[in-house]
Amino acid sequence: MDRSGTTIWGGIEAGGTKFVCAVGSGPQDLRDQAVFPTTSPAETLERVIAYFRGSRARHGPVQGMGIASFGPVDLNPSSPRYGFITNTPKDLWSNTDILGIIRQELETPVALDTDVNAAALAEQTWGAAQGLNTFVYLTVGTGIGGGAMVNGRLLHGRLHPEMGHMRLPRDIRNDPFAGSCPYHGDCLEGLAAGPALLERWGRAGPHLPRDHPAWILEARYLALGLVNIICILSPERIILGGGVMENTDLFPRIRREVKNLLNGYVNIREILDVESDYIVPPGLGDRAGLLGAIALAGGPMSRKTGT
Ligand code: ZN
Repeated sequence: MDRSGTTIWGGIEAGGTKFVCAVGSGPQDLRDQAVFPTTSPAETLERVIAYFRGSRARHGPVQGMGIASFGPVDLNPSSPRYGFITNTPKDLWSNTDILGIIRQELETPVALDTDVNAAALAEQTWGAAQGLNTFVYLTVGTGIGGGAMVNGRLLHGRLHPEMGHMRLPRDIRNDPFAGSCPYHGDCLEGLAAGPALLERWGRAGPHLPRDHPAWILEARYLALGLVNIICILSPERIILGGGVMENTDLFPRIRREVKNLLNGYVNIREILDVESDYIVPPGLGDRAGLLGAIALAGGPMSRKTGT
């Protein structure tokens, strides 16, 4: 706890382009935020560890740490590689024991989950999913990833959900773009993440006019993905975050497409009502991942590992 007696936690949002670190207790109390570019594991983690050692001197010891990590990451506690980032396309980070290194160097309990599961937990704790037990957080940015809470527990399964890589029906006469996923080409991420917008249209999302046909196609692909999620998990709400969703015109377009695709079969008023709060932006904005790391450290859902 800090010098005033408040229990504080450490959070690391470990992303493919940057690591964001902070200590604090929640959205109103995030202290000392620091951002480091993601370079090699040794260099990046050394800076992260130095930051938290420094923050301990300034704010007192944290009660525990949370890591909201890019993936794939091994979350199975009985696996010999538990806590490792596994076969990521970011080659330098493949087989990095991110949990073990942080736990050993900072000598504190550490909880780890995917960045999107952590964001889901933060949204349930402080944001747009308060009071809900089954919902999905999907980020649409440089990639597409989904976290899910099901019956009050973050969903892991054998690995963890990889919703961004689901396959979609598509009309290649209407959209001949081959897709940008290095593994699958035209999976959801390959068709609808930020890099797909840039490659298909020659301009990144923020530079595409709001009436550009890109957004019709974007809403269509995202709605196809959401309908699959609705049919599989029956979420009470779907939260859409990430840079691409900063074009808020997408929300009503996606809601209309979802309604059309369900075609009256899932006959739930709030799902079909394009004015409803069923498909919404994050309540915590772009801080959901970092706050998710704090929530993992302190939340009842966290799996803490002692030193
Ligand atoms: Zn893919």
